[in-house]
Amino acid sequence: MASKKGRVFSGARPTGRQHLGNYLGAIKNYVALQDDYECIYCIVDIHALTTVETTEDLVDNTYDMALDWLAAGIRPEETIMFVQSHVPEVMELHTILSMVTPLGKLTDLPTFKEKVRLQPNNVNYGLVGYPVLMTADIALYKTDVVPVGVDQGPHIEFAREIVRSFNYRYHTNVLVEPQMKNTEIPKVLGIDGKEKMGKSNNNHIELAATPEETRQRVMQMVTDPARIKRTDPGNPDVCNVFTMHKIFSPADEVAMINVECRRAGIGCVECKKRFAANLNANLEPFRQKRAALAENPAQVWDILHEGAGRARTIARQTMAEVREAVGLPK
Ligand code: SF4
Repeated sequence: MASKKGRVFSGARPTGRQHLGNYLGAIKNYVALQDDYECIYCIVDIHALTTVETTEDLVDNTYDMALDWLAAGIRPEETIMFVQSHVPEVMELHTILSMVTPLGKLTDLPTFKEKVRLQPNNVNYGLVGYPVLMTADIALYKTDVVPVGVDQGPHIEFAREIVRSFNYRYHTNVLVEPQMKNTEIPKVLGIDGKEKMGKSNNNHIELAATPEETRQRVMQMVTDPARIKRTDPGNPDVCNVFTMHKIFSPADEVAMINVECRRAGIGCVECKKRFAANLNANLEPFRQKRAALAENPAQVWDILHEGAGRARTIARQTMAEVREAVGLPK
């Protein structure tokens, strides 16, 4: 670990089987960061409680997400991968940090206002404190770097403010102000070609879908809306299928489609069949690894528990320092 550039932390809610949007927007980056950083990846089940209506799928969703992360290339022998609630110290730090966080700032945050708009009948206390718990997640592990997309920058800036307030209030430097690592996170559209890919929009393609299920989803993808007939020339620049080709297809095939689409030399059906074949070929190693891991679910839980044990060692040390800095009785 000594040769690595620092410690990365990132968390994601347990959303179950992951889709292409999750992969391109987060998991791919998680895998790459392991080469340069000591990584801690957390499935944030407590955060999920602020918005979920039922927890009956929580265990299955946590397991499926962990399975997908592992199959995609998270290396648990070096990376700490765990479930947030398995390290209860985060709740204690959350409480302590809440005392240095102005309530008005929390209720002014656009993300809070948006949640209020989306779930007016469930504006709970946890929802207001969400950014404080997020800060606790980051600070508990003395995180150096948090990977963020452009729109997430304000959250980390707010986390930095909370950490600064704590250190200032208690005349300490126990907590580390995390740096942001801006990451190019593509906006992955769903098969409707309009909305961001997501389960709630039912426009997603699951990584673990079978090749046939994947092909069927790809064949439903919306293409250039102005291309009505096979003989109409298309515009790949406005076509989500082409965007995906650029990610998953060989360069010569992408170049061919770019030319042939514009002169109606290739039809959308053939274009989508080609994409489905290339996507399935790309996903084959993932699927094989996932199937092998799924034969032994206990092993996946062991990895999560072992990760929590390693995370907890760091967390306990941080909390001992925090309690000392605050001046709590021993
Ligand atoms: Fe899109 Fe391909 Fe159809 Fe062109 S041929 S509009 S790139 S699906």
